[in-house]
Amino acid sequence: MSLALARKYRPRRFADVAVQSHVANTLRNAIAGDRLGHAYLLCGPRGTGKTTLARVLAMALNCERRREDREPCGECPSCERIWSGGASLDVVEIDAASNRGVDDARELRERAMYAPSGEDRYKVYIVDEAHMLTREAWNTLLKILEEPPPRVVFVFATTEPQKIQQAAAPVLSRMQRFDLKRIGPADVRERLAAVLKAEGLTAQPDALGMLARAADGSMRDALSLTDQVLSLGGGDLTAARVREALGLVHEDEHLALLDLVAERRAADVFAAVGRLADHGVDFGILLADFAELLRAQLAVVLGGALPEVSEHLRAELPKRAGRFSAGDLLRMLNLVVEVEPHLRRSGQQQLLFETLLVRFALLDRTIELEQVLRGVEGAPGGGAAGAPGASRTAGTPRSAAPSAPPSTRGVAPTRPGPSIARASAPEAPAPGSAAGSPGGPGAPRRPAAAEVADLPAPKREPLALDINRLAEHWDEIVDRVNADNRALLLSSTLAHATPTAVTGTGVITLTVGSDAHAELIAGSEATVLAAVRQRFTGVQKLVVKVVTPEGEQAPRRLNETAVKADRIATLRKQSPLLDAAVDALDLELLE
Ligand SMILES: [Zn+2]
Repeated sequence: MSLALARKYRPRRFADVAVQSHVANTLRNAIAGDRLGHAYLLCGPRGTGKTTLARVLAMALNCERRREDREPCGECPSCERIWSGGASLDVVEIDAASNRGVDDARELRERAMYAPSGEDRYKVYIVDEAHMLTREAWNTLLKILEEPPPRVVFVFATTEPQKIQQAAAPVLSRMQRFDLKRIGPADVRERLAAVLKAEGLTAQPDALGMLARAADGSMRDALSLTDQVLSLGGGDLTAARVREALGLVHEDEHLALLDLVAERRAADVFAAVGRLADHGVDFGILLADFAELLRAQLAVVLGGALPEVSEHLRAELPKRAGRFSAGDLLRMLNLVVEVEPHLRRSGQQQLLFETLLVRFALLDRTIELEQVLRGVEGAPGGGAAGAPGASRTAGTPRSAAPSAPPSTRGVAPTRPGPSIARASAPEAPAPGSAAGSPGGPGAPRRPAAAEVADLPAPKREPLALDINRLAEHWDEIVDRVNADNRALLLSSTLAHATPTAVTGTGVITLTVGSDAHAELIAGSEATVLAAVRQRFTGVQKLVVKVVTPEGEQAPRRLNETAVKADRIATLRKQSPLLDAAVDALDLELLE
């Protein structure tokens, strides 16, 4: 195979640009109907065919064997030259990344003023990475875009149209914009299969699936990766060969991590991740693959169609369906979304990945406990979120539960650990609940804490801000941040923060155990203050203080167990009823 696949199979006609047919057809019809624009802006992720489409357009405009349907022939000298990106008098490709200044734009403008080399030819300027052009360069081009010479077409290609919008909004109104689609795994697989068939090779479906996932929406990458695998020799494509060539982790490794989480073996995370690190795993790819696995597991739990997964996973995931609720999986996916951008930039990918898995393994019980606490604390006093449970659920049928993810955990039938049925136990040791419910004797059974946890809070009188009240209601505020913003990282960090002071002018001091926590909270000050204001009046400002626990050298960030133990100890002090509840529920959290 002398020619790289990506080049060899680059489309020569509009009809070949199948995935972007919405753009290809419009362009072809514009030529056929003599409605050609002077400037086009092609937007889309890398590898989706922007340059290819621009070249096919240039080929169609300059083909020496013009066809009825206005497709380029793809074979005449003109087509061949344009297709291969070779030098051409009339079709010029410019990389804006290295020609971004005003002088380059001026030169481009002057060249465009000359007529094409032949009467029936068009000049086509293809400007790649157009968002790299400076504002001044755009201003220089604006004039020619406003009064374009005949038979000149500009095609700007960009992955970041919003930057053009920022730098040169007026030019956008002079262009026809097309948004290219990200290429889905199914399209990539189909194309790869066709290409390999044309090469006389066969491929296992799983091998194609792996390549498609690794290519992440770029057809060019998919073909280059296939080249990479084939360059190692050995004929037909197998999953094992793809894995070896691309340095991917076997799916069984992903499943093993999933099982660690399902079985809540937080302590085993470190060894498992360490082993992967020893094998030189790329944690960025590993996280993306693991997220795909969570997504597929979520689809299984919800009973929906499985997304692009291998036969192996198709068989394995249903076996694990009973181990996760949809709520669990959604929360984990949320955390992945929050962590992923940090992980990509971080020099401590292993640590971040590890921490994430530990949190996954612990996530479950933390939240269940908090739900129980809400119910217990709220029962007698009427102050906490869980208290008005009866009044809140009276008009809310249970079927509303699926819209509130944390509630769905309770209906998963075979989950291990303290379940919703057990969570309702505090009913007995909390006789105040019936008397406290406004619905009276005719009111429905007071629902378990977990059921009411995520329903909208009822109208309550706002409280005057004061440190004791704030501390007492802190959990409620943390829940509010989570419920209103779905900001798990922030709310779980807030859960580890302690309100330690409130000034007469409404300045709240939160104390946290690490700089990272302080930074995260300070960065979301508005969100936190908004949540506090839902309950308190006179709130002005947030100050975050870092106090490193004395006598502890190691950062406590990772030590979730210690943090939770502290938290439970504090809560037990606050709520005498908790002791009873913890004993009644036999919560495994307390050492
Ligand atoms: Zn031709």
